[in-house]
Amino acid sequence: MAIRKIREFGDSVLRKECKEVKEVTGRIRTLVEDMIDTMYEANGVGLAAPQVGVIKRIVVIDVGDGPIIMINPKILEADGEQYGTEGCLSLAGKMGYVRRPNHVKACAYDLDMNYYEIEGEELLARAICHELDHLDGVLYIDRMEGDLMDSNFTPESDDEE
Ligand code: ZN
Repeated sequence: MAIRKIREFGDSVLRKECKEVKEVTGRIRTLVEDMIDTMYEANGVGLAAPQVGVIKRIVVIDVGDGPIIMINPKILEADGEQYGTEGCLSLAGKMGYVRRPNHVKACAYDLDMNYYEIEGEELLARAICHELDHLDGVLYIDRMEGDLMDSNFTPESDDEE
């Protein structure tokens, strides 16, 4: 278990196209464990590998129902619409309005490289869309409507700055 440093907006790693995971090695398992620890430590609902500097197609999400590990995830179906505020651990203290589908169906592989499908609505749908965007170097501010706002939500962090 280890907390990794979360890369902040402006770091070029957040703009990279991530690579598919071909095999779950010991290093990948450790990375995923660390990503989950780092997400919880920062009070986030999701974290993508590039946010800890690793250009691989891995995200972790927890909207309150336990951790979801998604390796090589893809969105299969998206419908409906939700409009609301969104934040990102790589843009601490900020938020903006983003339109997202209200329902998504996605597929991914788990840590044993077993294929699975998952459906989510509302916050889970938003988190899946947000985190999968990270794997293509897309940030919510690219999709934001209106201005970036200060958020009352500040991840606990003892970073310098
Ligand atoms: Zn994010």
